[in-house]
Amino acid sequence: MKNGVMMQYFEWNMPNNGNLWKELKADAAHLHEIGVTSVWIPPAYKGLKQEDEGYGTYDLYDLGEFDQKGTVRTKYGTVQELKEMIAELHRYQVSVYLDAVMNHKAGADYTEKFLAREVNPEQREDAESDPYEIEGWTGFNFPGRGDKYSAFKWHWYHFSGVDCDASTGKEGIFQVVGEGKAWNGGVDGENGNYDFLMFADLDFDHPEVVGEMKNWGVWVSRELNLDGMRLDAIKHINDQFIKHFLEAVRAERGDRFYAVGECWKNDKESLDEYLAQVEYQVDLFDVPLHYHMFQASQKGRDFDLSTLIEGTLVADHPDLAVTFVDNHDSQKNSSLESQVKDWFKPMAYGLILLMKEGYPCIFYGDYYGVKGKKSPHRLILDILLDARRRYAFGEQHNYFDHPNTVGFTRTGDTEHPGSGLALLISNGEDGHKTMAVGQHHRGEYWYEITGNRKEEVMIDEKGEGTFPVSGGKLAVWVKR
Ligand code: CA
Repeated sequence: MKNGVMMQYFEWNMPNNGNLWKELKADAAHLHEIGVTSVWIPPAYKGLKQEDEGYGTYDLYDLGEFDQKGTVRTKYGTVQELKEMIAELHRYQVSVYLDAVMNHKAGADYTEKFLAREVNPEQREDAESDPYEIEGWTGFNFPGRGDKYSAFKWHWYHFSGVDCDASTGKEGIFQVVGEGKAWNGGVDGENGNYDFLMFADLDFDHPEVVGEMKNWGVWVSRELNLDGMRLDAIKHINDQFIKHFLEAVRAERGDRFYAVGECWKNDKESLDEYLAQVEYQVDLFDVPLHYHMFQASQKGRDFDLSTLIEGTLVADHPDLAVTFVDNHDSQKNSSLESQVKDWFKPMAYGLILLMKEGYPCIFYGDYYGVKGKKSPHRLILDILLDARRRYAFGEQHNYFDHPNTVGFTRTGDTEHPGSGLALLISNGEDGHKTMAVGQHHRGEYWYEITGNRKEEVMIDEKGEGTFPVSGGKLAVWVKR
């Protein structure tokens, strides 16, 4: 979609009031108006307790329908409210991507006894004990749902590892032992083998697990009329399963069914490798770009802005990169805390929303706020979203040529009269840069739309302008 924008419609500290689906439904018209073309919604199925964010997944088939774990609704609402919200978003041409948590299950209904060995958390191929019988939380029979939608029941042999021996209360990483049991291949190599993340880890080498999870993917995307998925924690899941899973879902929903994976690796080589393994069937979040922006926000003028997009996913795989500034994991007090500082956020969003490449994703916390506290960034985001819809067209010329002042231009195109822009960011003193916007703009007067500069810039005979930017700020210039 031309100039599409995704919004991650939740943050880590949403209140447990069951209102999110209703609030999102009521927001559909507004989202359409500001240029949001898709929303990534949080895990919409029953977690191990009502207040769970959804990543402690208990029953993937309980979308807030059954009395399980002491509640019918999830943290975000009921299945009816979920479906009504999705229908309303579709009425406004906003696509819906569900967060799919497939790596693990939590909150089992009963324990089972089986053989396991403890492993070294830093080197999971190294056993720290001989196999012995443990009692693990691996029995899932979903008493509140029964066999509706799926009759599958989970047992210890469907998992590759658990986090606790219930008979002693001992916590650790317990690898399930048995015929054909091993950590899954096709996962990240950190810690020896990064198959295990938390809770009871699904064994994607088990054909029953593969079959059941594919069935779920097909079922949930049809049941909710989904347009895509955000795949959680894929560096802990066999990459070949991910490829086959998407083939199965797309056979049902069509090839345009969208998928973006969370592969939290801060190096582009790992992401390149992952993309090759899944034959480029999934987009990835641009984690290296996030860390560049995080570092830029930490280091101030000591960060060399000319390196800002070097070695990022969007630089090398522009069609497969979802660019983002922050998310629920990077925000303060979260598991992967690396929150971009406030002063740099306007620059970071200016970059991802106005550049030609990448599929930008706006974080709920940056637009609406965190813990009910209003975000200071909403105004600038509205300005940049408007600029994306009106001006961010045509070719891009980069000027990442100075450690403290960088920028790019978009030339505009004939389909969008008056389009074209010049963006600059500074992390040091006031600066300026002469940049080409194209000869078709010569003689025009341009002004700055964020309010940081008051003068006008004339585009000269060569189609160039000398655009100022204030120190530590963003400037976005367009035709008056
Ligand atoms: Ca795993």
